[in-house]
Formats: sequence, structure tokens, C-alpha cells
Amino acid sequence: MSERLRVDPIACTGHGACADLLPEAVVLDEWGYPLLTAGELPRELHRPARRAVAACPARALLLERTGARQTLPGRFTGTTQGTPAQWAP
Ligand code: SF4
Repeated sequence: MSERLRVDPIACTGHGACADLLPEAVVLDEWGYPLLTAGELPRELHRPARRAVAACPARALLLERTGARQTLPGRFTGTTQGTPAQWAP
């Protein structure tokens, strides 16, 4: 199962704890807000990423599982904005 980080930019208050705890995947911009450097996290970063998510005081750092999509039958061909969603076999 793959995992990747996401930041809720509205909730994030720029504490920077995520970059301290997970420098392999998070750097801070010039204002102290996180920039995620990794797409899908390598397996060895899953545990440190969970620690960083738990340590975020604003609950703005999220860990998203991406493997679930691969188990769905067919593939998603539409968008959720403006056009109807469709599943193709
Ligand atoms: S620890 Fe949380 S609030 Fe602080 S910069 Fe990282 S994501 Fe934002």
C-alpha cells in the first residue's frame, strides 16, 4: 500500500514541526510553511511520517493511502468538477 503526505493549507499555521520530524519529505518555504518534497513515500518513511502527522499541532498534516484506488474495478475517466463521473471497465 502506498502513502503520501498532504497538507491542509487552511489549517496549517506554519509551526514547522513536520520539517523537523521528516526532513526527507518536508522542507519549509521562506515563510515557514511546508513544501512536500516526496510524492509517494518510500516504505521506510511511513513510520516517521505517522509521527510527523501525530505531532502537527494544527492537525494540518495528513497521510493519505493511495493503494485503495488500485483495488477498485475499472478506472475513473471523468472529473468531479463539471463533468459527470464515469467508470470504464
Ligand atoms: S507541523 Fe503542521 S502546522 Fe506546522 S508547518 Fe507542519 S503541517 Fe503546518
